[in-house]
Amino acid sequence: MKRARVAYMGSVHDAYEKDGELRLDDGRIVFQHEVVWLPPIIPKTIFALGLNYADHAKELDFKAPSEPLVFLKGPNTLIGHRGQTRRPADVTFMHYECELVAVIGKRARNVETKDAYEYVEGYTIANDYAIRNYLENYYRPNLRVKNRDTCTPIGPWLVDAADVEDPMNLILRTYVNGKLTQEGSTKDMIFSIPYLIEYLSSFMTLNPGDIILTGTPKGAVDTKVGDEVVTEIEGIGRLVNTIVDEDEAH
Ligand code: MG
Repeated sequence: MKRARVAYMGSVHDAYEKDGELRLDDGRIVFQHEVVWLPPIIPKTIFALGLNYADHAKELDFKAPSEPLVFLKGPNTLIGHRGQTRRPADVTFMHYECELVAVIGKRARNVETKDAYEYVEGYTIANDYAIRNYLENYYRPNLRVKNRDTCTPIGPWLVDAADVEDPMNLILRTYVNGKLTQEGSTKDMIFSIPYLIEYLSSFMTLNPGDIILTGTPKGAVDTKVGDEVVTEIEGIGRLVNTIVDEDEAH
């Protein structure tokens, strides 16, 4: 099942897709353009991977890491499908990152790779915008690169894990104003989702609602105010976002 959270006529609803239609938790069927899309989950800890695709690491002139390079994001960064992302006024290079997101469904501690999928509730898509002007090197905390308000659109759907046959073999694509600018496959991740669950749960507890943004393949292109950026993943969905000027946004 594909689940969502939306606002409609002044209240927030859980929703789901059935036969191509969007249904609210009270049974009403609504048009997708009539709702405000919210992030499909209210996450606890937000993990994100740096340089988890070798081709993207190369594009940034970094060596592919030998151990997962994980950082945290704050909830201030998240917005829903069809939202507006504010481009900071002082920035000259801001690029999207189309990423598969694993949502943890069960408390996990010391989980082995072979059992790790049992702990995944489902999958969604994030666009992990990077403010590249502030990228120094990957050993430094990257708050100013990756923790800006509105700079992580996520959704539209939380797709149940049972409906995703092989999350490690999905095509990712990004379109800017309708033009394909990024294409890759999750099979090219350096550290797979099961391995990341083993790695993180080896030194800390993962809880239901924790999410892991698994990194992006190459194809980082600067995006400007007014651009429509669509990040899509085969079988998971199509996440639409528009970039607006920081000063003009409300
Ligand atoms: Mg990223």
